[in-house]
Amino acid sequence: MSMTVLNLPQLLNPTFWSYVSEGTANLCVRYQGPELAYDIQRRYAEEIIRPLLGPSVVPPSLLVRVHHDFLQELGAIILPQRPVHRRNQDILTSQAHATLMPDLIMLSADPSLSLEIKPKWGFIPRSRNITEDRIIKRSICRHCLKTRCPPEGKSPTSSYCPMDLYSGDPVRILRGLTSLSADPPSNRLVFFRDGRVIALCHSVLPSTFPLGKLTASLAWSIIWDAMTTALAACPFLSHLKRHQERLYGLSIEGALALYEDPAAAKAAKNAWGSMDAWKEALNAYLSRDPSKDDELLSKMDHIQTKVHRLLQQCMAATLQDLSIMITLHPGPLPSASLQGLFPSTYIPILTHLDTHELEWHCRVSAIDLDPKPVTRIPHWDDLDRKIALSATVNSPTFSCTPSS
Ligand SMILES: [Zn+2]
Repeated sequence: MSMTVLNLPQLLNPTFWSYVSEGTANLCVRYQGPELAYDIQRRYAEEIIRPLLGPSVVPPSLLVRVHHDFLQELGAIILPQRPVHRRNQDILTSQAHATLMPDLIMLSADPSLSLEIKPKWGFIPRSRNITEDRIIKRSICRHCLKTRCPPEGKSPTSSYCPMDLYSGDPVRILRGLTSLSADPPSNRLVFFRDGRVIALCHSVLPSTFPLGKLTASLAWSIIWDAMTTALAACPFLSHLKRHQERLYGLSIEGALALYEDPAAAKAAKNAWGSMDAWKEALNAYLSRDPSKDDELLSKMDHIQTKVHRLLQQCMAATLQDLSIMITLHPGPLPSASLQGLFPSTYIPILTHLDTHELEWHCRVSAIDLDPKPVTRIPHWDDLDRKIALSATVNSPTFSCTPSS
């Protein structure tokens, strides 16, 4: 995929950066250097995903060229702040690029609280292409098939059902959040206070924080309430669910059938590297009558139509794997140090939560918006089949309550 890469040598001073968090593939550091001002460069997340989810939740980002010496020195500086179990793995100093984004964990200066969650799929698929051996997918959502229907002898790994989080009902949203918080440590839910990862729900808030004079249990109950109110008030999750379901209209079984046409697979692989092709696929989706989301495969005789549907399946995969950052901040919002790089196209969502006589500013952002390879479609189908068949063997006695 062609993408503009910025040379911003002013950023390549390792002392301007501090550690935030890391996963297996990505390391997140925060810029704390002098203010900068550059134009925003658009990329996949902005041109394809942002039109779907809205400009206020998809932050702009820049691809910045980095070099070995910078990464090596940065790695040494942040080493003491990294989790002990990850310190034996050095950061990749051979990387040529890094992604620069506005700080989504902190709305401004201290204090702030942020919650990062992976909401997963918000719908139960209904496609005609779901095969008889995977019919369980019509009653139990994907996440619950994977986590609540374990192989015999193993225990469920989660009590979270995404249908609750996507329901729009504050009672169910709170249940979704609290069940996530009860899960074993994972990247499905991470809390940050003032930009640093904290132990969930047990951390005593600083006295400078508006809730700091309350007991920890009461303060955290108010924070859960605020997070729930923010999610219920923000239309983001309903947009996300709608596009997940529509883009996934053929189900993975239907997408695989299209991919098994060698000419379509070849054309889709070529198209994957072209932003013009992604835009065509996006426009084809946006102009499609929703009743045709699950159109008969036999009616798709044009290669171009198949390519559009295969790229749309990849967009669905992006929407199903993204993370949400919910950031709460009491008080006014001073400008951020990278404001010049990320100007007015980013519109924060402000939610005033008057309960408990506190006013919060809240922002809900979507992150981890990478394009997923079209070559993964056979793998996704294989995984889907294994999950569905494994769950079916156990004959679960529950079903998921749809999100709407
Ligand atoms: Zn479920």
